[in-house]
Amino acid sequence: MSEATQDNAAVRLHDINAQIASAAKLARREAAEIELIGVSKTRDAEAIRPLLDTGHRAFGENRVQEAQAKWPRLRDDFPDTKLHLIGQLQSNKAEEAVGLFDYIHSLDRLSLAKALGKAMREQNRNVPCFIQVNIGDEPQKGGCMVGDLSDLIAATQAEGIEIAGLMCLPPADIEPAPYFALLAELAARHSLSGLSMGMSDDFPTAIMLGATHVRVGTALFGERARAL
Ligand SMILES: *Cc1c(COP(=O)(O)O)cnc(C)c1O
Repeated sequence: MSEATQDNAAVRLHDINAQIASAAKLARREAAEIELIGVSKTRDAEAIRPLLDTGHRAFGENRVQEAQAKWPRLRDDFPDTKLHLIGQLQSNKAEEAVGLFDYIHSLDRLSLAKALGKAMREQNRNVPCFIQVNIGDEPQKGGCMVGDLSDLIAATQAEGIEIAGLMCLPPADIEPAPYFALLAELAARHSLSGLSMGMSDDFPTAIMLGATHVRVGTALFGERARAL
């Protein structure tokens, strides 16, 4: 990768942090309450390294295998990196996910809560999880239905899993603010403080509505070559 491109990633990071700070200010919140997760799916180690060099340490991946292929080496050099799994997770990958990730944002069903609970007990590892809510009631998307959320929270707690908060991916091509507001209300109703919401196109709006974790890929790294 050329030096110019590397500089770009660092410049974009700076710019996004400035946008986070100004959205936080407007919402009378502290910017430090908001974690920027750099979504590095499809990016190779050479694209990620410049951000690590600037001191950024939170990254999101959506596939266990892809993350296993590139992160162990990067982590040898930057051991305080925190990895967030943001993509759908199959129960048969729970063990690997618990071994690799520090946070999981896609706990969305009872069978997965059981598999993750078992893996955490076996590995003696605590990996806080966000419960993903299918906030737009879209059949093709992951996430638990709003009506099933209370039961899933109870089952997750019964597994001994620490619940970090709620996560959502609002429907595409429509104003996301009402969905962010609904996720915030659901979190408050269940006394959960973490809100993983907001991506490249809408993270300032998400921050206005209480996001504590924004997941930003394209705005940080540029367009992805393959759609995901
Ligand atoms: C890819 C992805 C993102 C980042 O999307 P951008 O639009 O590139 O910022 C955030 N969250 C999830 C769950 C994703 O899969």
